[in-house]
Amino acid sequence: MSSESGGSAVARANRVVVKVGTSTLTYENGRLNLRRIETLVRVLSDLKNSGREIILVTSGAIGVGTGQLGLKERPRDTAGKQAAAAVGQCELMYSYDKQFSTYGHVTAQVLLTRDVIEDGRRKEHVVNTLSRLLEYGAIPIVNENDTVAVEEIEFGDNDTLSALVAVLAEADALVMLTDIDGLYTADPRSHADARLIPVAEAIDDTLRAAASGAGSSRGTGGMITKLNAAEIAVRAGIPTVIMNGANPRRLYDLFDGEPIGTLFPARSAAR
Ligand code: GLU
Repeated sequence: MSSESGGSAVARANRVVVKVGTSTLTYENGRLNLRRIETLVRVLSDLKNSGREIILVTSGAIGVGTGQLGLKERPRDTAGKQAAAAVGQCELMYSYDKQFSTYGHVTAQVLLTRDVIEDGRRKEHVVNTLSRLLEYGAIPIVNENDTVAVEEIEFGDNDTLSALVAVLAEADALVMLTDIDGLYTADPRSHADARLIPVAEAIDDTLRAAASGAGSSRGTGGMITKLNAAEIAVRAGIPTVIMNGANPRRLYDLFDGEPIGTLFPARSAAR
């Protein structure tokens, strides 16, 4: 598949999953970056007004809870993380709900654990609920249920979660917003000659080597988890884009068909 057809597949996408990470949503101190969230919500609301269906997969519960509780750093133990997530998830949803409602949109909180989507019957309920929420015109806002997730039932990172949600919801495109422009030939923070890879046709060892090491201190995932997530999505026929979330208005350009970030064209011909 050429980059042009991959890009136009994204531009044509009707059902879109957008994943936003902690480093995009918060400042270093864990407090919400309100200006960024306001822009993101406005753009997503407008994309929805234009006729697209939007599912937002959001991180930030632990980061925001850490800030809300006035903790010096993100807790490292399970109970601490789960407590911070319980606090932060409320604040996150409060903020999204308030802002989406100013544009007349209704939000829905969907908290998932891995066991739910691995069990056939429970998975079917998730699929049906997501589909009904979209039918009702709501914007599902998905996160991992961090407060109850333990190792055996956790996704571990929201990149993987976003790809699984895209597959469950039979999305037409997955967009992962992060704090870097896309996938580079090497970590651009340590390699001045690193170049952005505009289209990644195959997710192979060279690409994995390029992605290793790049990550942020505030979220859980890094480039490798994004690459693995992209692999899940493109195998299911869902074109995937990794792009910078610093200016959410770039989403307009992406959906206008401009080459933004790194595109992983869908692999199966099913779509
Ligand atoms: N679910 C976690 C949170 O909301 C984030 C996981 C991740 O950053 O990938 O804090």
